[in-house]
Amino acid sequence: GICVHGQLLLGPNAITGEWGHNPLPWPRPEELPGPACYCGKHGCIETFLSGPGLAGEHLRRTGKTLMAPEIAALAAQGDAAAETTLQIYEDRLARGLASIINVLDPHAIVLGGGLSQLQRLYDNVSQRWQQYIFSDIFHTRLLPPRFGDSSGVRGAAWLWRDQP
Ligand SMILES: [Zn+2]
Repeated sequence: GICVHGQLLLGPNAITGEWGHNPLPWPRPEELPGPACYCGKHGCIETFLSGPGLAGEHLRRTGKTLMAPEIAALAAQGDAAAETTLQIYEDRLARGLASIINVLDPHAIVLGGGLSQLQRLYDNVSQRWQQYIFSDIFHTRLLPPRFGDSSGVRGAAWLWRDQP
């Protein structure tokens, strides 16, 4: 969802924040047309940035079927292939979020879902998104979900009125 001045934004189509079914921004040639999405299109952000999306990227590149937490654990142990998969993931997340920031200029973006527990995302992605954001100053903060990944917040952008 998108929260403006303390209130969730609600539109006539009830699709506010359905960012996951937009195409991945600034696509690389190898990312087109992208994986098939259950919505009927190809290359939706969700097909790259979900846990299965991360696992799928690792499978395409290495031929190894691993779950996202296993890939994250391997990267933390210094596995080069897993590290590359995570860096590709971080760059995609940075691109996806930069396109939101360029439209909404939010004070903060709160990640959700299982991958929001991956601590390295918060520093790495907010470094990487600077190259995609149309600004020379970067005050938007990338935050973990306040109530863990069970809070039901999926890729939510919160705009707070009184935050610095
Ligand atoms: Zn889709």
